[in-house]
Amino acid sequence: MNAAVAQKSHTVNSHVTSIIDGEGVKLGAKGTDIPVINPTNEETISQLREADAGEVDRAVKAARRAFDSGPWPHMDINDRKDILYSIRDHLRKHSEELAYLECLNVGLPLQSVRGHVQRMARNFEFFAEVASNVHGETYTQTKGYLTYVTREPKGVAALIAPWNAPLALASMRVATCIPWGNTCVLKPSEYTPLSIRRMVEIFHEAGLPPGVVNLVNGRGPVTGNALISHPDVDMVGFTGGTTTARSIAATAGRNLKPVALELGGKSANMIFDSASIDRALDGALAGIFGNNGQQCLAGSRILVHEKIAKQFIERFVARAQKIRLGDPLLATTEVGPLAFKAHLERVLSYVDVAKADGAKLLVGGKRAVDFGRGYFMEPTAVMAPANDSRVCQEEIFGPFATFLTFSSLNEAIQIANSSKFGLVSYVWSDDVNTVMRCSREIRAGTVWVNTPMMRELRAPFGGYRESGIGRDGPQASLEFFTELKSTIIPIDPPVLPKYGAA
Ligand code: NAD
Repeated sequence: MNAAVAQKSHTVNSHVTSIIDGEGVKLGAKGTDIPVINPTNEETISQLREADAGEVDRAVKAARRAFDSGPWPHMDINDRKDILYSIRDHLRKHSEELAYLECLNVGLPLQSVRGHVQRMARNFEFFAEVASNVHGETYTQTKGYLTYVTREPKGVAALIAPWNAPLALASMRVATCIPWGNTCVLKPSEYTPLSIRRMVEIFHEAGLPPGVVNLVNGRGPVTGNALISHPDVDMVGFTGGTTTARSIAATAGRNLKPVALELGGKSANMIFDSASIDRALDGALAGIFGNNGQQCLAGSRILVHEKIAKQFIERFVARAQKIRLGDPLLATTEVGPLAFKAHLERVLSYVDVAKADGAKLLVGGKRAVDFGRGYFMEPTAVMAPANDSRVCQEEIFGPFATFLTFSSLNEAIQIANSSKFGLVSYVWSDDVNTVMRCSREIRAGTVWVNTPMMRELRAPFGGYRESGIGRDGPQASLEFFTELKSTIIPIDPPVLPKYGAA
């Protein structure tokens, strides 16, 4: 399907409720409702019924029961894998419906979201395969003893997801958690619950046993806090912002629960004079305007060698002015609206921050008013006065690029590393020494060379410094979501001390 998604075939329920033990929670007479807004036209499309502490408790208890006495953790791995593959197939079958809900609620362009939906299906397939290949260790060096080490699922996870790419990110959280036999309670962002509610329904249509994945909806300080503080939660997986992460890690720390944190970035996109400039230009535009600029891995600090800076930036600006803003449901749209009003206001506020810091506005900088309604912002770029300015140090999380220039490889690396974040980085150069120096010296979890945003599921993904703690990936997720157990058995009965026998 190339044009708009067939909207009429997908219904949106009047209320978004929790899913506990495989059942949608019935709408009670009382409760807090939060409007769910379509950012393209600012209309209310549904109401989120917030889960209070009691409802969160029921969801965690369902996950606990499914872990302690349900079939999931003890199931033959081939049966568990069949269910995870069935989830993959059902997600694919419903991909247009999920893409529609995501575009409607988040404003992400259809062309991006179709990619996300395919990836979420792949996540379940991939981690099912990884879990089915896990093996243990044996030790026989100590004479007379066999010691073997097995992996066991860790228990009940609280999984918290952000609003910028709900399907891609929440599915990653779930797909790295449940294949080992864990159960979970997922809380998506209160701004963007629509697609995730349907995703969890689809898990159950695909045959997932009740209680393995439970869903609660609501605001962070209410529903989220009740979830991460619950004593029956064994671990917390969080994707979101640094400020929230500090509070979540503090709560988890008080309760001695392990946390994995996937956080923000202010990633350097380094364009050397040895780069293929046309490709670097395409990559720089995709790196900051992809997913409406609302992506943790955005190449938001664009560092350009001074020899090529003038021409590169002129071409960037010319292309930014021609970006097709519009209805995210149209396959031709390149950038949609920002996800909600307060976020648009926050991103716009950085135009004044930039000006106050002495930055020069190169393009954009305003709300895009052509549409009459909707949280659209013009693709924006500024020339920053220095790397220590706020627009170079703070994550803006919108279609807002910040340019700086450099005169040497050393200076480029020094600027790239002068950040509290370290999620990803981009290097554009056809010179092998430049590439190798950047790969070795940049302090970030991923270095993309001459390519934007290629996600290799087999490799770990996560950040240095304030961009996170832990990684997603086969080995890293295995370490986080499983416990190790050593069993020690004597081959011949050992001689035992005979306390009190003499
Ligand atoms: P956020 O931190 O505001 O919220 C994330 C989630 O945490 C939401 O579900 C929210 O309701 C919940 N939350 C808030 N307060 C809470 C509390 N006290 N207890 C429990 N839960 C709470 O982040 P956001 O604005 O939704 O997302 C944007 C941020 O996420 C950006 O910083 C972005 O870079 C980051 N992000 C990181 C990655 C990654 O993989 N590294 C991916 C996507 C987004």
